[in-house]
Amino acid sequence: RAKTDGRGTYRIFNPEMDAVAQERRLLELDMRNAFVNGEYKLVYQPQISLDNQEIVGFEALLRWEHPERGLVSPEFFIPVAEETGLIIQLGDWVIRRACMEAMQWPDHVRVAVNVSSIQFMRGNVINSVMSALAASGLPPQRLEIEITETVLLEKTEQNIAILEQLHALGVRIAMDDFGTGYSSLGYLRRFRFDKIKIDRSFIRDVAQNRESGAIVHAITKLGVSFGILTTAEGVETQEQLFHLAREGCTEVQGWQFSKAIPAEDVSSVLAVPVSAAIDRWRREHEER
Ligand code: C2E
Ligand code: MG
Ligand code: MG
Ligand code: MG
Repeated sequence: RAKTDGRGTYRIFNPEMDAVAQERRLLELDMRNAFVNGEYKLVYQPQISLDNQEIVGFEALLRWEHPERGLVSPEFFIPVAEETGLIIQLGDWVIRRACMEAMQWPDHVRVAVNVSSIQFMRGNVINSVMSALAASGLPPQRLEIEITETVLLEKTEQNIAILEQLHALGVRIAMDDFGTGYSSLGYLRRFRFDKIKIDRSFIRDVAQNRESGAIVHAITKLGVSFGILTTAEGVETQEQLFHLAREGCTEVQGWQFSKAIPAEDVSSVLAVPVSAAIDRWRREHEER
């Protein structure tokens, strides 16, 4: 039995093929079928502004609900989608779906979408974004694209040109997971990011670890002087929240407020004031 692997080459299934490789082929097949079967969905995590203590946007996070495997984590299946090239099709679907669902929200609420560096470099992200905006009617200002530093690692000029074109459409650009991987401060000078998202690994022990604290301090200061918003990812405790507010971080996202929620719950989350955590924070600030 021969099967195309999507790159125009052929691989033959044979009895010697080891179990790992077989399992892998099955997974790839499952991932393609998941499209047809409607097993992918998006969940949304609130992003809270520390200026006005309001939800200013939601990050769309991909989920795969497999009938037998159960809920499969994107940390597991996105790398597979990237290796097989399926990420291009899947990523297009994510952009389109997120824009459609965000149309149901109030006008001031943005949607942030993760775009894989593979999709960014091999797909046509400008076309994907334009067609998603056109199909949904979402104003471009309400869409934020999250990319990682990997996008700027190779073919930097070419990729910055793509980012500029997205900007020209009116779409916002955020740098995700900042501080991990290949961080180069030079990138911040080459392109006007609208937002830097400080990686969760620095937030986790920001209040206890001197180095994490120093990194978060440096990034927030950089944000202020560049006029770039800074979002702290993975805020789980009030201690972290207070620390970040004092540092001048502009937005927070994390389980302290909410995990990612189904699309149908977005309006009810928007209807109530941001969690008690924020109220406590505000009281504390007013007392001083
Ligand atoms: P990310 O873009 O950095 O997303 C943040 C991840 O942190 C999400 O994991 C979110 O659920 C998790 N998180 C948020 N708050 C907290 C917290 O307080 N504590 C902890 N421990 N975790 C928190 P998730 O949804 O499993 O996604 C993991 C990664 O998968 C994402 O990291 C992103 O790189 C990728 N991903 C998710 N959806 C998509 C997508 O639609 N397209 C692409 N290309 N990548 C995606
Ligand atoms: Mg992200
Ligand atoms: Mg991140
Ligand atoms: Mg991440």
